[in-house]
Amino acid sequence: MTERVIALVDAGRRKPIPAALAPAAGAARDTLGRPLRDLRISVTDRCNFRCTYCMPREVFGKDYDFLAHDQLLSFEEIARLAKIFAAQGIEKIRLTGGEPLLRRNIERLIEMLAAITLPDGRPIELTLTTNGSLLARKARALRDAGLARVTVSLDALDDATFMAMNDADFPVAKVLEGIDAAAAAGLAPVKVNMVVKRGVNEHSILPMARHFRRGGQVLRFIEFMDVGATNGWCMDDVIPSGEIVRMIGAEMPLDPVDPNYIGEVAERWRYRDGSGEIGVISSVTQAFCRSCTRARISTEGMLYTCLFATSGYDFRALLREGKSDEQIRAAIGAVWSARDDRYSEIRTAATARERKIEMSYIGG
Ligand code: SAM
Ligand code: SF4
Ligand code: SF4
Repeated sequence: MTERVIALVDAGRRKPIPAALAPAAGAARDTLGRPLRDLRISVTDRCNFRCTYCMPREVFGKDYDFLAHDQLLSFEEIARLAKIFAAQGIEKIRLTGGEPLLRRNIERLIEMLAAITLPDGRPIELTLTTNGSLLARKARALRDAGLARVTVSLDALDDATFMAMNDADFPVAKVLEGIDAAAAAGLAPVKVNMVVKRGVNEHSILPMARHFRRGGQVLRFIEFMDVGATNGWCMDDVIPSGEIVRMIGAEMPLDPVDPNYIGEVAERWRYRDGSGEIGVISSVTQAFCRSCTRARISTEGMLYTCLFATSGYDFRALLREGKSDEQIRAAIGAVWSARDDRYSEIRTAATARERKIEMSYIGG
């Protein structure tokens, strides 16, 4: 058996919550002046895929200890935390995992979260990232429960490449069915995320661009990242987004587009002939830490202020110790006010080898 790589609840990986530095109410700013705007919530650490860049089968095999049910935040705990975060300034929630559609009765959680309103009365924006495997079956129910949009991950259009990457023999056609079902259910515009790894799926860049340009989905290319500690990342495997834009632009001319909002992570490009757009997420070659407004809650209720964190803050303990909403809100404000993360700006070969939290645990 492979040694268990992640010490999920080991006390050394918890940070004490700092004493409140900011007033409890109102939107906190971190030490680099960034507000807290987005919350990603991981609802399960399990997945039916074993993408080689995320949950390599050698590590996440039969003997891997996934979280037990009582370690997960309950739907009530998630909804309570989300409401407190909304009072603290977040405007968007993205559900993720692991594979979020594997969490039983996820529609019920979506209903609970969709009911949250922001201090100015607007509804919260609720989205979800999925591998698409269960989407054809669930899209309508997700929409009915109040989900606004989905992002579907798909790394290639040919089964040989896709199956080599998902390592679960899962065919492309089923994911495409899920994408169609999501669009038909009104979970639109559907975004499609493609992680690009040199020597693995770079030959899929142009076929993917051509396919989704016709289909009207927004395809986003993600640079292979050194998240976690198990995916054997090295810089040689990264195809810089600039290279991808040049490759696509040579066949289908592209023009840059202004971001939709400050802090948008994808750099947008529009096809010059008006047939839609693509995005590139250049976490490795063009760090966007300066505008990073995201916090992440893990499946068991740890709060992380960076995707590349090595430790987090135990908010499940606060919930289960009976702390009041006001106390939890002050704790969020204190954590955010002390935040100084900018991992992608300071990444080196050495930091890439640190024992960071896994993507499947913290959520992408
Ligand atoms: N299972 C769902 C899925 O695959 O969409 C949600 C969770 S997954 C961790 C979220 C996103 O992270 C996916 O789009 C996935 O491709 C991306 N991802 C995972 N590992 C990555 C890595 N090493 N580099 C870049 N993106 C990665
Ligand atoms: Fe599962 Fe998503 Fe990770 Fe792939 S990227 S292993 S689908 S959690
Ligand atoms: Fe945000 Fe951390 Fe990514 Fe920088 S490295 S953009 S701080 S999550």
